[in-house]
Amino acid sequence: MSDVYIQKKKCGGSATVINLRLDISPMVQFIHCIKSANFLRLHRSSGLGQPLVFLFPSERGSAEFVSNRRHSDIQSLPPPVGNIMASGQQPPSRPSFHPQTYHNFLVLDFEATCDKQLIKPQEIIEFPILKLHGRTLEIESVFHTYVQPIVHSELTPFCTELTGIVQSMVDGKPTLQQALQMADDWMRNEGLLNPKVNSIFVTCGDWDLKTMLPGQCQDLGLPVPDYFKKWINLKKAYSFAMGNYPKNGLPFMVKGLNLEHIGKLHSGIDDCKNIANIMKELARRGFTFKQTGSNL
Ligand code: AMP
Ligand code: MG
Ligand code: MG
Repeated sequence: MSDVYIQKKKCGGSATVINLRLDISPMVQFIHCIKSANFLRLHRSSGLGQPLVFLFPSERGSAEFVSNRRHSDIQSLPPPVGNIMASGQQPPSRPSFHPQTYHNFLVLDFEATCDKQLIKPQEIIEFPILKLHGRTLEIESVFHTYVQPIVHSELTPFCTELTGIVQSMVDGKPTLQQALQMADDWMRNEGLLNPKVNSIFVTCGDWDLKTMLPGQCQDLGLPVPDYFKKWINLKKAYSFAMGNYPKNGLPFMVKGLNLEHIGKLHSGIDDCKNIANIMKELARRGFTFKQTGSNL
């Protein structure tokens, strides 16, 4: 990990900590910088050699490379805050997040059978949960299983195209009832069923826990555990934090926060990672997450 110092020519926004997209052909990296009067301190993981182009978050500006050695003008700058990088790796950091009211956030994003036209009933085919630390929003544990659909057991080409899930990924996999039991076991192992541990699910929209899970559980005569009956809708949280509602969901929020989209849109596990990144960035900007929905 080396520090690179860039003299600022033009940089929009009033935030003291901003994200930059650093294009070093052929790589595109996300990095952090801390803005001082004249310098941006950048943390990156590899050497420097090529001309650099920086895209600033609120306006496109240019930056001039100054030195890859420590500069006296910026020695007093604080260390960068952490972020989930595109590679999934963390830069060394001392996060300074606004305190949250939950011990853990549980990021959930179901994928379900679908076709060009609405199909009924839809059935869950991917069931991922990321356990995030409530203050740092780091990923602490992952639950993930594909789920065997029963009514429409053959995935449509549309569904495979949309989600990246092919037939062999769901064939022979647990039924929803079994997947719910596996998720419950994982929750217990992670200490999430301890009444003293305050956690809440986070989804992109209300569909997962307001419509999809209760609907399929009702069809199957299965009870819905209480922990699935309250949640944070990330789209609402984003609109509270940023002042605009993300109509097209994840891509809008990723772009609005100058983050890089990870993986494939509509892959459940990748969607969860992007949700986690968005949450981490909102928390870093000082947002406190609160419950937005309930089935209780
Ligand atoms: P998402 O979490 O946005 O990836 O979507 C969850 C589920 O909603 C998908 O697995 C599909 O069943 C359904 N879905 C999402 N987008 C579409 C779409 N454009 N057309 C049909 N179904 C969709
Ligand atoms: Mg979703
Ligand atoms: Mg999804």
